[in-house]
Order: sequence, then structure tokens, then C-alpha cells
Amino acid sequence: MKNISVTVEKGLCISCGVCRGICPKNCISFRREQGMYLASADSSECTECGLCQAVCPGFTHVYEPCGGAAETVSGSAQKCFNAWSKDGHLRHISASGGVISTIVRVLLDSGEYDGAFCLDTYDYSAQLKTRLYSAKDIEEGWGTSNAPKSRYLPVSHENAVMYMRENRAARLIFVGTSCAIRALRAAVSKLRLEPEQYLFIGLFCDKVFNYNVWSYFEDKYLNGAPLKAVHFKNKESGGWPGDMKFYPNDGEPFYVPLSDRARAKAYFMPERCLYCVDKLNVTADISVGDNYTGIDESELGSNSVIIRTDKGMGAWASAAEKLERRAVSFEDISRAQAIDLRLKNMYFGDLRTDCDDLNCGVPREKNAADFESEWKTSIKRLRSGAVYAEKPDAVKKQIYKDNKKPCIVKRALKKIFRYAKRLLK
Ligand SMILES: Cc1cc2nc3c(=O)[nH]c(=O)nc-3n(C[C@H](O)[C@H](O)[C@H](O)COP(=O)(O)OP(=O)(O)OC[C@H]3O[C@@H](n4cnc5c(N)ncnc54)[C@H](O)[C@@H]3O)c2cc1C
Repeated sequence: MKNISVTVEKGLCISCGVCRGICPKNCISFRREQGMYLASADSSECTECGLCQAVCPGFTHVYEPCGGAAETVSGSAQKCFNAWSKDGHLRHISASGGVISTIVRVLLDSGEYDGAFCLDTYDYSAQLKTRLYSAKDIEEGWGTSNAPKSRYLPVSHENAVMYMRENRAARLIFVGTSCAIRALRAAVSKLRLEPEQYLFIGLFCDKVFNYNVWSYFEDKYLNGAPLKAVHFKNKESGGWPGDMKFYPNDGEPFYVPLSDRARAKAYFMPERCLYCVDKLNVTADISVGDNYTGIDESELGSNSVIIRTDKGMGAWASAAEKLERRAVSFEDISRAQAIDLRLKNMYFGDLRTDCDDLNCGVPREKNAADFESEWKTSIKRLRSGAVYAEKPDAVKKQIYKDNKKPCIVKRALKKIFRYAKRLLK
């Protein structure tokens, strides 16, 4: 079938929803399976026009080769900054320094753009979808809306694509992870829309969870009682990067250490993220992440920002007055985001012999076979998280076992063994 089913069969659907938004027959729907919202085309309606496949970020990410592997997957930059919002409240409620919320607010307020597609909930019991924010929302208090903060989950951009199809003259801002920005750019091109009308703000992206993590959180922290919202990062309890904040349906909100989130990731991850090396969102106009450079870091939160295009430079200039910013080198950001380490995902992707090049254009500097055992362990973990709904106790046990600290004797023996090995060398 020449449609989205190919991506789903290969386990590469990332639930970005762009296929659904672009389908001229409106025949793509999503079914919840293995913690993901997987696209499926109604075969009685589908004409196999191929549009959904053409925009799908599941198959491959194409890079412009420039130097070595790390340089290629980092992309190009006109300017780089560490920055944060001058609005203390916005900075406080944002994921990091509030740079994205500030840029969006300024550009809607000034009328440079007609709308921005952002999120509006912290409830992850259903598929997350972006929705349109306009200048009116800004007037009514953007700072109190549910737009800011990071959701480490797949997000559907179907509403955004449907809206640009129907409103071809609208000037719009999109915020998204690397796969979403690639898919949205492809949609603009396939729909023959004017690319200059759109501003793409890309999030640096390590990986997302799948939606099973919501039930896992409910089981682990509330004995199965329902949650109504989760902040993956919240600065209230001790500044940036902050703890997770859980809001139960009944009872007081409570905090959970960030390390618990990191531990769960390996199990509740879509397989597509395991092969992605586009951590810095190279096709965005402006890429924004947390500031881990060691320069200007603050417990109030700050961002690292890469301005990639002329359009990005224009948007950045418009927001200048509302942001504190300090120039920083591209190398500092790339190093802080451990891009070298991330390259192992490319070799994992190369081990998928049933897929063509998942990361096209990136020079290979290592042997994929060296990563095989690590890839297999990663696959085993994420496949167990995918079936969490069927076997919750087994998965919880496995996570506990994998993360249990070895006993003190074992740890001491390990140290002695490592020391002896070094001496022998
Ligand atoms: C899945 C994911 C992985 C990330 N991984 C990294 C990383 O490895 N390293 C790093 O430095 N930074 C990472 N970030 C980025 C970081 O967490 C912050 O989002 C970023 O620094 C912007 O901060 P801010 O204060 O400017 O954002 P805010 O001002 O709080 O605004 C965030 C904006 O992003 C939108 N948004 C949130 N989540 C999503 C989503 N999943 N899809 C689409 N839009 C969304 C919100 O609606 C809001 O408009 C990641 C973010 C996400 C969502």
C-alpha cells in the first residue's frame, strides 16, 4: 500500500499527525496501540496518492553533509545565544528560560504573525494536539495559559496542517520537535504554500515517552488512582531544571525527582526516537533548548538558542527587547548537548536492515556492528514499555531490577576488578 501503513508496520510512526492533516480524502485516523497513536488509512477511501508518505518523518531524516558526522547533524547557525525572558513570571512558569513563549507572544502581539500552534493542556490521558493561539489569547494573559512547559510526549500537528490548508494566506508559527518540524516543512512544500509565511521554532529533542508512561506514573505514585495533570519539569520546588509535579484527581499536588523521569525513559519510548540524531532540530528557523553550556546557567532557567535562517534572525530581532541574551559559540551548545554520544542512534538505525537509510547524508565514522548489543538491550526495554497495559507488574519489576544498585560487596569487587585491569594494562 502506498500510504502511511508502511511506516506503522515498520514501527516508525511517531504520531505527529501531519499525515492526517494533509490527507485530501480525510481518511486517516489514529488508534491507540502500544502507548502510541498510530495512523491508519481507511483502505476503502484511500486513493494511494502518496501524500501521507511524502510528509512522514518516520522513514528518513535527510541532512546536508557538512564536515564530520557531529557537524552534519548539528546543522548550520547564523548566531547562537544563551537567553531568557525578562518577564519573571513567564520565565518561572516556562520549561527553561521562557524564550519560546516570549518570541511567540511578541510576534503575535505585534501582528507579524496571525497565529501560533502550541499546546494547551498538561493532561496526557488522551493524544496531545496543538491548537491555534491568536493575539486575543495574548491579551487575555498568555502567561496564565497552559501553553508553556515541555511535554515529553508525541504531539499531533494535524490541526495545524488542516488550518494552513484552509487558510493559505495565514502567517503562522509552529513549535515542535525535530520530526514534527520536518513533517510540517514537507507539508508546506507539498501543499505548495509560501514557506516565508511560516516560522518554525524547533525544540532540541532528546526523545519522547510513549503514552503508557501516564498509567505507569499512576500505578507507581498513586497506586493506580487517576492523575489529572503532570508537569514534566517544574521550578517551584527548587529552581531549574526542577522536579516533576504531579496533580492527582483527588488530593494535593506532589513532586517527583527528575531522575525518576530519566529512568523511565528507556522503557516508555517510541522506537523511532531510538534512531533519531536530529537533537538540535536542524530544519527549524530557530532551535531552542535548555542551557547546559555552563555559561549563564541559572536556577531561574535559561535557554540555548541557535538562529539558523534569515527569518529566524528577523523574529529574534523583534523579540530582542523582551529577552536577556549573551552570544555563545555553536561548539559550546553542541558539546553541552552531547551530540557525539547521540550519534550512536544513527548506528542503531543502520542495524535496522529492513529500512533504507534512516539518517541520510551523515558520514559514518564508526562500525554499526559495535553497537549491536546496546541496540538489542534498548529494543528489549522499549518493547516491554510498549506492552505495559498488558503486563504492568512484569514491566515494573524489570525497571526496578535494571535500576537496582548492586550491593556494596558487588560494587567493591567491581571496583577492584577495574583497578586490577588498569594495572595489568
Ligand atoms: C520532547 C522534548 C525533548 C526535549 N529534549 C531536550 C534536550 O534533550 N535538550 C535540551 O536542551 N532541551 C530539550 N527540550 C527542550 C526544553 O525542554 C524546552 O522545551 C526548551 O528549552 C524551550 O524552553 P522555553 O522555556 O523557551 O519554553 P516555554 O516558553 O515553556 O515554551 C515551550 C513551548 O513548547 C511547546 N511544546 C511543549 N512540548 C511540546 C511538544 N512535545 N511538541 C510541540 N510543542 C511543544 C509549548 O506549547 C510551548 O509553546 C526538549 C523538549 C521536548 C518537548
